[in-house]
Amino acid sequence: MLVFKFGGASVKDAPAVKNVAKILTLFASRKKLVVVSAMGKTTNLLEEIVKALKEKNEQKFDMLVDQCYDFHLEILNKLFTEKHYKVYQQLDTVFEKLRAKKEGFFSDNFHFEYDQVVSLGEILSTLIVEAYLRELGEKSVWIDSRKLIRTDHAYRDANVDWKKTEELIKAEIGPLTAHSDTFITQGFIGHTAEGFTTTLGREGSDYTAAIFAYCLKGESVTIWKDVPGMLNADPKWFDNTVKLDKISFKEAIELSYYGATVIHPKTIKPLQNKHIPLYVKSFLDPQAEGTTIQESMEYDHLVPSFIFKMQQVLFSITPKDFSFIVEENLSDIFEKLSRIGAKITLMQNSALSFSFALDQSKTDISEIYDLFKNDYEVRYNENLELVTIRHYNQETIERVMVNKEQILEQKTRQTIRILMKDKG
Ligand code: ASP
Ligand code: MG
Repeated sequence: MLVFKFGGASVKDAPAVKNVAKILTLFASRKKLVVVSAMGKTTNLLEEIVKALKEKNEQKFDMLVDQCYDFHLEILNKLFTEKHYKVYQQLDTVFEKLRAKKEGFFSDNFHFEYDQVVSLGEILSTLIVEAYLRELGEKSVWIDSRKLIRTDHAYRDANVDWKKTEELIKAEIGPLTAHSDTFITQGFIGHTAEGFTTTLGREGSDYTAAIFAYCLKGESVTIWKDVPGMLNADPKWFDNTVKLDKISFKEAIELSYYGATVIHPKTIKPLQNKHIPLYVKSFLDPQAEGTTIQESMEYDHLVPSFIFKMQQVLFSITPKDFSFIVEENLSDIFEKLSRIGAKITLMQNSALSFSFALDQSKTDISEIYDLFKNDYEVRYNENLELVTIRHYNQETIERVMVNKEQILEQKTRQTIRILMKDKG
């Protein structure tokens, strides 16, 4: 079984859906499970919709739901010539359910309500893609991943129950492979033992593909993207990017740990565990090579990779009583930071101070200050840039340091991380 994942950009309008269908015809004789994300920016829109529900802003809710409906209807109208297709009714049913939420009970558990609403984006996209494939004569089946991926109750960031999930996936898909070649299912969503819908965290569809591949012992996973593969830097921050042709699972995990966003960080582990190669390929140029992520580490050093994290804030805290930074106060510091859900991007300590960087946009500086002010002197430095270079050399360091001043540096044999700010 081949496992494919098509993200929101690959199904953002009717021509894009047609392109997906065209790619699938390249694998016509193969069994394939196709994981699809919500179309275009639908997930963001659904986030707005659930916020409007919470705020009981009916007017805004109606406006946004209409917008979401029209967006999907327009895609349907461009894909199908006849309005009597079942998928039109299915679209209406999903939206009736969504509209009914306005009158329904909105619980105190916002994360729960979020998952019930935001998951609908993937339901809509897969209904449409599957209907279109069937229209083209493909023997395809719509699979409800809410019934197969079993999770805990951590709404919006649910954890997979692997044993149960494997059981459910095998029992459902196994028998169907006798009659069908193509299975279309939703990324990003799962369910609790009680049957409530959960989501796996934003951009979680890659992870869904890995879950299915793991459970079905897939031959490979292909993530189809609007870039030619994994690049050695984000073109937004870097000219002359180079494609990584082949890298190891370990390297892919390192890159995503430092902030590379091409694949969802949870995707690699299940694939590595079952030795299932991961391909990242362009849906605009499906015959091109792309990137292969696999076991061997022999190619990792060939191209240096650059990861940029902009808008960092560096805090330095020093115990007021002049005590050393040792395990006890470290555990106090980490406990405080984890309580507010802070995600540290870089940290370092000296005898009397502990420094840590955070994404400025996700940080309330006064909240951090209040956390530590009783026991520590707190200082901070804003508008910094954190650059990580894997497989660095002097030339690559000089390249990123042009017109920058170094604030802090960490170096291992493979990786250098430099926190810097504009010279000025
Ligand atoms: N539709 C979800 C999101 O936009 C999941 C995904 O695209 O992977 O976050
Ligand atoms: Mg997406």
